[in-house]
Amino acid sequence: MTLIVSELEEARALLCEAVDKASKIVAFTGAGISTECGVPDFRSKNSPWLRYKPIEFNLFMTDVLMREEAWRRKFALDDIYGRAQPGRGHYALANLVAKGKITAIVTQNIDNLQQMAGVSNEHIIELHGNGTYATCLKCGLRYELHDIRRAFDATGAAPECSACGGHIKAATISFGQPMPEKAMQHALSVTADCDLFFAIGSSLVVYPAASFPSLARQHGARLVILNGEPTPLDDLADLVLRGDIGDILQPLAS
Ligand SMILES: [Zn+2]
Repeated sequence: MTLIVSELEEARALLCEAVDKASKIVAFTGAGISTECGVPDFRSKNSPWLRYKPIEFNLFMTDVLMREEAWRRKFALDDIYGRAQPGRGHYALANLVAKGKITAIVTQNIDNLQQMAGVSNEHIIELHGNGTYATCLKCGLRYELHDIRRAFDATGAAPECSACGGHIKAATISFGQPMPEKAMQHALSVTADCDLFFAIGSSLVVYPAASFPSLARQHGARLVILNGEPTPLDDLADLVLRGDIGDILQPLAS
């Protein structure tokens, strides 16, 4: 039986109880945890993502004009939300990692805010990469965005790797680009091994995101879903908390 709670104090109390009872929590985060930080949800109406649509991976790889356009859009988006700071949800999860309650945070987000809230990379599994740096697609060398931007602003040319000549791309997973195999495997294995799977701010519509909650359930974990809107997996959950994500997580942040 799924319990659906939308009253704030009750949601907070039930969440604390669920967290207390658990010893190996996997948190799964989507765009909803970052919206209070000013990072727009890709799916929301008027999202700047619609104006600066990501370029598909095969176009990026095959067309230099598309690569230049991809970088123009990337920097335009960074101007909109590149200075975002972590929110209450990120600090709540950081706190639970520090207490040893959360073993891993699997995220669909590319905003780096969970790291900025003090969680080390060993506890974070990024399914869609990270938008705060870039890598060479051929040799993997890391590049910093401010260096790329300086050169791009001066020449307008898409950057290429100084070591191998490969294309440099933001370290995110684009549409049409294969999912990162290692991150996926890692996410699946921590999910199968947790005793509480806590999905936060994800619509749980897109695969592979949608497959994790059922995997956790199959392995006997409790499932708690926290989101502003109903998700298609709510019926699978033990507890559904519906409301403002920052408000509900706030007591766990201190
Ligand atoms: Zn290279």
